[in-house]
Amino acid sequence: MNTNKQLATSATRIASSNHQIDESKICPRARAIVEKLTAANYQAYLVGGCVRDLMLNITPKDFDVVTDARPEQICKLFSNSRMIGRRFRLVHVYSNRNFIEVSTFRAVADASKQRHTEEANNGRILRDNTYGNIEQDAIRRDFTINALYYDLASSEVLDFCNGIDDLRNGQIRIIGDAYTRYKEDPVRMLRALRFKAKLGLQIEPETAQPITALGSLLRDIPAARMFDETVKLFHSGSSVKCFNALRDYDLLHILFPYTAQSITQDEQFLQLIYAALANTDRRILTGKSVNPAFIFAILLWKPYCELLESAQSERVPISETVWQAARTTVVDQSTLTFIPKRLSIVICEIWRLQHRFHKRKGRKPLQILMHPRFRAAYDFFCLRTEAGEVDPAECTWWTNIQHANEEEKMEMVNTRQQHK
Ligand code: ATP
Ligand code: MG
Repeated sequence: MNTNKQLATSATRIASSNHQIDESKICPRARAIVEKLTAANYQAYLVGGCVRDLMLNITPKDFDVVTDARPEQICKLFSNSRMIGRRFRLVHVYSNRNFIEVSTFRAVADASKQRHTEEANNGRILRDNTYGNIEQDAIRRDFTINALYYDLASSEVLDFCNGIDDLRNGQIRIIGDAYTRYKEDPVRMLRALRFKAKLGLQIEPETAQPITALGSLLRDIPAARMFDETVKLFHSGSSVKCFNALRDYDLLHILFPYTAQSITQDEQFLQLIYAALANTDRRILTGKSVNPAFIFAILLWKPYCELLESAQSERVPISETVWQAARTTVVDQSTLTFIPKRLSIVICEIWRLQHRFHKRKGRKPLQILMHPRFRAAYDFFCLRTEAGEVDPAECTWWTNIQHANEEEKMEMVNTRQQHK
């Protein structure tokens, strides 16, 4: 019995002859989960970003499954699963250390009618576990291009919100009234900017219009979620475009007020940011590792330097001032985008090493070379050089010492006339 076909009737169905989805791009684990659910007589589809990406011939980075099975029923079917979530209750089905997210069809939250929905007085949805059918599930998604379902049994795409047309016309269109949907969840504004940058689409005018005016609502979002969304923006592989979009829509001063303030006064700092973001995008596109600490270290560099300058006094040793200014900068930013401790330590170490790079005599440079953050700090130093902040000769010295043999190293750290 094909459960999917029986129940999803009112969608536009796009047959495989009318779309170019390459099924070899579909994760076999996601396929297996869908097949197990349908074999148990539940409806199950791939949904959201993965279908959008498949339609654009992009290999999705994650796959989401949606079903009419309730979380408890999903858990019963998959022994290697865990129920998670407060705002949305959903299930992670594990294989080894990876998991696929499986969620139950949900309806649009309406706090006045639904006892499972909780809304803050500014319209933000706090909890939303109102189950529904596939059509209801489609219209509570954010954008039409993210509300596509893929039926693995028939290889058809199911479209309830005209997402296919929007995708083909390169449009990001919010489902429903833009003001209401952004008030329900302001993070949707950041998502719109990210998809625009990453997928090269346009934000359709009515979807774009309220963003600047409603930007301040992002301040009410828990800082931990804002951190996740910020990392997604800057690790999207299109961070330069995301950064420009944040500036264009006047959201940079909401997410990074100290950064926004500093760039108005310092063109060189803006150049440093662009050089770092372009470098991050290149690293991501070539499959190299990236650490969010690096991005935060860049974006907060000038605010940190300004604080350091104002805090410097003859009575307090510089090493202490450096540490205090670094801590304060990170803590201040953390109220907006929470910065986990493991990252804040790295950020502070990268900054501290910037000062130590100017000391090039004696044993200190050799200790710096052994520092666990040397590589990140050196990359940072190179970018500062590129932006015109550091004397290129100093940077070259640090490049050379890494390639020198022991004898050459000793000579470099002992040659006094080279030092400032
Ligand atoms: P990507 O994974 O490439 O960042 P995505 O669209 O898959 O993009 P996810 O966060 O994985 O984003 O979310 C999966 C799907 O869940 C989305 O495609 C969308 O349908 C829905 N969704 C995610 N966040 C929201 C939101 N804030 N409001 C409404 N629907 C959302
Ligand atoms: Mg996704």
